[in-house]
Amino acid sequence: MNNEKMIIIGAGAAGLVVAITKARAGKRVILLEQNNKIGKKILVSGNGKCNIDNKYINLNRFHSQNPDFVANVLEGYDFPAVEKFFTSLGLELVEEKEGKMFPMSLQSSSVVELLEYEAKRVGVEIVCDCAVISVDKKGGTYRLETTQGTKTCTQLVLTSGSPAAPQLGGSNSGYAFATKMGHTLVPRHPSLVQLCSEESWVKGCAGVKVAGIAKLYANGEYITEKKGDILFTNYGISGLAILDLSREVSTRLANFDYCELSLDLMPEYSKEKLTNLLLPRIQKESEKPIVLWLQGITNKKLIPIILEQSKSRVKLEKELNRKEINKLVHTIKNLKLSVNDTKGFKGAEVSTGGIDTSEVNPQTMESKLVDNLFFAGEILDVDGDRGGFNFHWAWVTGLRINQNSKD
Ligand SMILES: Cc1cc2nc3c(=O)[nH]c(=O)nc-3n(C[C@H](O)[C@H](O)[C@H](O)COP(=O)(O)OP(=O)(O)OC[C@H]3O[C@@H](n4cnc5c(N)ncnc54)[C@H](O)[C@@H]3O)c2cc1C
Repeated sequence: MNNEKMIIIGAGAAGLVVAITKARAGKRVILLEQNNKIGKKILVSGNGKCNIDNKYINLNRFHSQNPDFVANVLEGYDFPAVEKFFTSLGLELVEEKEGKMFPMSLQSSSVVELLEYEAKRVGVEIVCDCAVISVDKKGGTYRLETTQGTKTCTQLVLTSGSPAAPQLGGSNSGYAFATKMGHTLVPRHPSLVQLCSEESWVKGCAGVKVAGIAKLYANGEYITEKKGDILFTNYGISGLAILDLSREVSTRLANFDYCELSLDLMPEYSKEKLTNLLLPRIQKESEKPIVLWLQGITNKKLIPIILEQSKSRVKLEKELNRKEINKLVHTIKNLKLSVNDTKGFKGAEVSTGGIDTSEVNPQTMESKLVDNLFFAGEILDVDGDRGGFNFHWAWVTGLRINQNSKD
């Protein structure tokens, strides 16, 4: 049985940064990964391009029960700290819109391959196909039962992530190890996830995409809204605006059977501007069917729904008047859709909740409850917005561990 110095559970974003920085500082490091290869989430991220970070790091892009903890971690650890780390690997970054940063190659595989090369170069022992089954601590020694036998160490780092995307290694196991050692879990919900609806009309609109605004209501109360692509699917609704809204929906669905979305299908047009666009189009004696008339401004699959929700009985263009137009305009800017579920952790990019951060030192990421136990990445009760913020959290919490002065 080896008495290893530091073992890291999980070779994802956070685990790789901890391993590299610690091994560079001279520590003996073993990185255990249950998958057959490291960094599976990095590989699929950003549609294979890896939205590695965001240039505009801001506290309000992160969500946690304990924002003070997030603020303390981020202090001095915004984008330049991450850029410096990647530059040290030879990985250059480029900016796309809204501060989103990508590897210059626009290939996530470059990120993983450069991380892996550096980890091996500085002597990290990477063990894939090695799932940790249990963790015990006796005296100053951690004893890990794994699918490749028993391993021991004096310092343990939990970078095993969240249950999001189990097909890529998402798991609850790190939570189980930590709670067994006395840590508390903040409830987890899928986030950055597609939403499901039981409304029958949605299936008929599958494939329709609009650049709109989705407003969220729960129990009749307005919660928030997001702008961007809205994509109707055969299970419900997706698109960037919906992913951005999903955190709020997911947490609300823990208390309510459903939430209501109000979709503005034409946000670039105010009600007045849209009315002024439509009114002059009325030909007084026209036999043109109203369905065809509406095709001049919106996708035809949405038209029956717009007519139904506006309770319009109008069939022909000549029957239109200002009142009817007002009803149609109102519906185009407030199409209602109830959502009753999410696509769950399988469809989610991240999870809300995790290890209660009040039990962790934000300077060093060490447990306040258990000596020589560290956390980094998504296992903690912190999740970020889409746009590179989740990777930022993983990288900087990994870098923070290197601040530990005990070594
Ligand atoms: C499809 C998808 C796209 C994404 N795109 C982006 C993006 O473009 N930008 C962005 O900022 N974020 C993105 N994310 C989110 C981002 O990938 C995560 O927030 C980030 O990977 C978290 O890093 P982590 O190291 O904490 O956890 P992970 O990367 O999940 O790594 C944890 C590792 O631990 C391993 N593990 C778990 N349990 C055990 C065990 N018991 N024994 C051994 N190993 C174990 C897992 O197999 C996994 O490899 C995306 C996520 C998904 C699913």
